[in-house]
Parts: sequence; C-alpha cells; structure tokens
Amino acid sequence: MASVTIENVRKAFGETEVIHGVDIAIADGEFVVLVGPSGCGKSTLLRMIAGLESITAGEVKIAERVVNRLPAKARDIAMVFQNYALYPHMTVFENMAFSMRLRKAPAAEVESRVREAAGILGLQPLLQRFPRQLSGGQRQRVAMGRAIVRDPQVFLFDEPLSNLDAKLRVAMRTEIKALHQRVGGTTIYVTHDQIEAMTMADKIVVMQGGNVEQIGAPLELYDAPDNLFVAGFIGSPA
Ligand code: ADP
Ligand code: MG
Repeated sequence: MASVTIENVRKAFGETEVIHGVDIAIADGEFVVLVGPSGCGKSTLLRMIAGLESITAGEVKIAERVVNRLPAKARDIAMVFQNYALYPHMTVFENMAFSMRLRKAPAAEVESRVREAAGILGLQPLLQRFPRQLSGGQRQRVAMGRAIVRDPQVFLFDEPLSNLDAKLRVAMRTEIKALHQRVGGTTIYVTHDQIEAMTMADKIVVMQGGNVEQIGAPLELYDAPDNLFVAGFIGSPA
C-alpha cells in the first residue's frame, strides 16, 4: 500500500510561513492533481513529500509510515520536473540506466528494465541518441522513462508539460494517464492549468496562498465549488 498522507503540514522559509497546515489523504494508486495559481505553494508541498525540502511542522506519511526524517533517496519516490533535467552528455539509454547503476544493479537487470520502460514509452528507436538530438516531447518521455525505471511506489510531477507547445501538451496528458494505467503507482501531479487538472485527475486539490481550498473529484468541484475562489478558478478558461 503506497498511500500518501499529509497531516497538518506547514512550511516556513525563515520567518515567513508559506504552507499553513495542509491535510490531504491520497489512496494507493490514485492520480491526484494539485492545482492553484503561481506561488500558492504547490512545488513546496511536492518537494516536502519528495524529501527535497524539510517539513516545518506536521507529518508526511508514505504507505502509513512517517517519512519526515527519511532522506529523499530512501523514500521510494520518483519526481519529474518541468525542465526535464536530463544529463546532456549521456545517451537516452544511459540517462534511463543512471539511477539503477548508482544502486549497483546488475548490468543484465539494468538492460532489461531500461528496454521495458523504453517499450512502454515508445523510446526504443531513440536509446542511442543524446538529449540535444531529441524534440521537447521526446525529452519529456525520457524524463518519464527515468522515473519508471526506478519502479517507485509514488510518482511526483511538477508542471511537466509547461515547456511544451499547446498541441503536444494535450497529447502528453493522454500519454501520462495511459502510463499511470499501465504501471500503476500513486501519482501526485502539480499544474497551474485547470483544464489539465479537470481532464487528468481522479481527485483535485485546489490550493491558494498556502491553504487547501477544496478537495474533490473534477465534477464535484465543477458542480459544487465550496467558495468563489474555487468556482472562479475551475470555471475560468486556461
Ligand atoms: P508554486 O509552485 O505554487 O508556484 P512555490 O511552492 O514555488 O509555489 O512557492 C510558494 C511560496 O514560497 C512563494 O511565495 C515562494 O516565493 C516561496 N518560496 C518557495 N521556495 C522558497 C525558498 N527556497 N525560499 C524562500 N521562499 C520560497
Ligand atoms: Mg511551482
């Protein structure tokens, strides 16, 4: 069971509190989208779940275990960022193999897992290319491939499509959802785009100014927003 539970979590940078006591319960295998305007605290919350940022107060639990003090690499999480962060001097294969090599996995296992992930994402023909030889969409697929290879319990995405053009963005939404259906894994997906949230989420968490405004299925939020902020945000065009 890889549920993710966020209990009364706060984050302060120096004297300034930017996350004000957030509660979110995410079930095993759920695809949850955190949505809200720029600066509302989405990335900070995701980084606390990933272990890239300390937790000022409250608890983060993964599979019912408190992970507040667990380093990022011990959390069984993979994170995909908007700027891909591929290693430019490594081929696609090497980029995807890197985390397994770090863990000293046997070469045959590395080979078979990378090929399996490449198959899922349609990357087989590109395994010997370098990142500079790929399109934006292909790079994003490699970034996802690196995440799958690690076989994590939890996937975290931070605005993974925001550098892509509009048409590709729509296609990649479908790909990410299909990927989730194939490989499973609890997914927390951050975006400031309400259309992306509405089309991808099992459950949406609407944030504003470091608080959760409402949590619900897309149609619940659309039909019964708790307040004017949610109504305005969900109802407005992208
Ligand atoms: P979002 O991802 O929703 O755009 P962020 O989580 O990046 O928002 O930021 C939330 C708030 O925390 C913002 O006011 C931002 O300026 C502040 N913040 C984020 N990171 C830091 C940091 N390292 N130091 C100080 N303030 C930060
Ligand atoms: Mg952000």
